[in-house]
Amino acid sequence: MSKPSHWADNYAEKIIREKGDKELYVCASGITPSGTVHIGNFREIITVELVVRALRDRGKKVRFIYSWDDYDVFRKVPSNMPNQKMLTGYLRQPITLTPDPYETEDSYARRNEREIEELLPVVGVNPEYIYQAERYRSGSYAEGIRRALEHRERLREILSEHREKPLPPDWWPISVFCTSCNRDTTEITEWDGGNGITYTCSSCGKEERLDLTDTGAVKLFWRVDWPMRWAYEDVDFEPAGKDHHSQGGSFTTARPIVTEVYEQAAPTTFQYDFIRIKGRGGKISSSSGEVVSLKDVLEVYQPELIRYLFASTRPNTEFAISFDLDVIKLYEDYDRCERIYYGSESVSESRTAKERRIYELSQVEHLLDTMPTQITFRHLCSLIQIQDGNIEGMIDSLSIRTSEEDLNRLRTRARCAWNWTQTYAPDAFRFSLRPRGSEPLELAPEERKAIGLLRREIEENLDTHDEKSLGEAIYTLAGEAQIEPKDFFKLVYRVLINKEMGPRLAGFLLTIGKQRALEILGGY
Ligand SMILES: [Zn+2]
Repeated sequence: MSKPSHWADNYAEKIIREKGDKELYVCASGITPSGTVHIGNFREIITVELVVRALRDRGKKVRFIYSWDDYDVFRKVPSNMPNQKMLTGYLRQPITLTPDPYETEDSYARRNEREIEELLPVVGVNPEYIYQAERYRSGSYAEGIRRALEHRERLREILSEHREKPLPPDWWPISVFCTSCNRDTTEITEWDGGNGITYTCSSCGKEERLDLTDTGAVKLFWRVDWPMRWAYEDVDFEPAGKDHHSQGGSFTTARPIVTEVYEQAAPTTFQYDFIRIKGRGGKISSSSGEVVSLKDVLEVYQPELIRYLFASTRPNTEFAISFDLDVIKLYEDYDRCERIYYGSESVSESRTAKERRIYELSQVEHLLDTMPTQITFRHLCSLIQIQDGNIEGMIDSLSIRTSEEDLNRLRTRARCAWNWTQTYAPDAFRFSLRPRGSEPLELAPEERKAIGLLRREIEENLDTHDEKSLGEAIYTLAGEAQIEPKDFFKLVYRVLINKEMGPRLAGFLLTIGKQRALEILGGY
């Protein structure tokens, strides 16, 4: 087999090379659900997903686990949340015990988990979710915690190596949630060398001895918790963000911890870069706070496009998700990739192989047998606005015969085009046709004459025109009406859409169609 050119294939082969031929490969990702999971976090999830798919394409069995670190402490009340006072009362408790300030979910953590769990299948990501609060409270990690306590000194050394001031001699690798007030405002006073831990709570004064095997109140600190779980789940692959991979970052310390304390090899890894957001200035809604979520991106990009953005960029490269005019170009890039895949556009052999693989990885489920109907995003923006956002009306007007699956993709793309024109597109892109039965504009006699000429041209010749010939005809009409072409264009846009500019006129008239155009021009 020749060396694959796609990064996901390269990493899949690296995992197989480093971990050997295994019955099952475990690929992991995870996050603390302490706020909305933003698109930068999504990069990690989709990165793992693409590698998982590359492994499965090699006939390997893969378990894709996604950890919700929902036993983490509620540290800070986000300013965009309601019920600030209530939330403040839950500081230092696990986020899984903090109520949902919107009062619709079981907990604060669950609210953030639910949104992403519902959206990931839309983009073809279906991991097995692991809830760390459940794992800890059920005692699953008792042995891992005990091992950390036994290696307390070595852990202190490893972690101190990257700190300016070493950890104090009375440092413990664990924190305890007080069983009376649920806060982690506790101090460990004794470990009996086995499963017994004694603590006191500075919030409520509780003093208690716990047994590791029947308590869920003890939790490992993140830097120890992560490598413990690698060992527990036998993780073969987990990428991490730049911050974790920096010198002294949590990956740097997790590596010796997993090998020395938990006697397992660290997973194959790589570092992924940040995502920038472009062209969304001032459009961020207060409800979502400062972050851009997967849901926001799905408003403008069909799922295949989102996968495409990540599949076509190496994970260690920073790139921007655009909400401005670049959206049109990105859709064009994707459509070209699709044409190359289905052989309707030819490029060099190596480029073909590369684009084909990116296209495969961009698909949410299976590939369609024939090339999906391509309508450019730019054109869809006009089509859907002519229909005032009515997607079914637009589909009917196209009268294309194709599969329901293909139509569904088109519907999704049309919805994105509509959302984009309504929220993000420059003004020049946005229009709304004069509604049926609306009052005609007051026009000067020569303007009315010019519109009359255009109406006659449309009535008699639109069916035989293409964009070029209609464009020429419009110039001739302007001459006949003795109006400067640029004034004629303005006039027609005013009559059609009540603006002085709009989409290129000839193509626009063809898109509107004879019937609708005559309805509007008929009043003059
Ligand atoms: Zn307490």
